[in-house]
Amino acid sequence: MLSRPKLSPNPSGAYIVLDPGHGGRDPGAVDPATGTREADLNLAQALTLKEYLARLGYRVGFTRTTDETVPLPERIARARRLGARLFVSVHHDIPTATRPGVYYSPRPGSEELARTIAASLGPNAWVLPSSASRFSRLYIDDFPGPAVLVEFGPTKPTSREERIARAQAVASPIVEFARRYVA
Ligand SMILES: [Zn+2]
Repeated sequence: MLSRPKLSPNPSGAYIVLDPGHGGRDPGAVDPATGTREADLNLAQALTLKEYLARLGYRVGFTRTTDETVPLPERIARARRLGARLFVSVHHDIPTATRPGVYYSPRPGSEELARTIAASLGPNAWVLPSSASRFSRLYIDDFPGPAVLVEFGPTKPTSREERIARAQAVASPIVEFARRYVA
């Protein structure tokens, strides 16, 4: 069930950009048991999330909508060209991961956005600064506004019902944050 939007349509028309991680030559994590590619899960989850953000009144853009190789700097460039105010990167973790989690960039607002998304993903979801990632920084750091990278779960086959449940869980917190922060 989609809860009724409680808020009027976004007056500013600001874009939220969804960034389905990996794609094309970069599959991301791969589940050895099933061959499931993280890049495909990310795109499917991002497209589902877009439906719910749009129903809540937000304009949504993408850094990719097909199985395409998009270099990391180009992802930020595409978001900026769209006039995006919020950057939400959609990823899945290694197949053995047991908890979802969210990284946040050093920009103002990113940590708050990460915390609200993580809380909606469940009580055991982690929240970490991008400096704690194994790369010690993440490309989301180059986005000028609030930016997070969500690890929705392990790279395993997901059903449409699971993707809808996850999209419903995080759409409202993202929109509520966006209205306070960028609308
Ligand atoms: Zn990834």
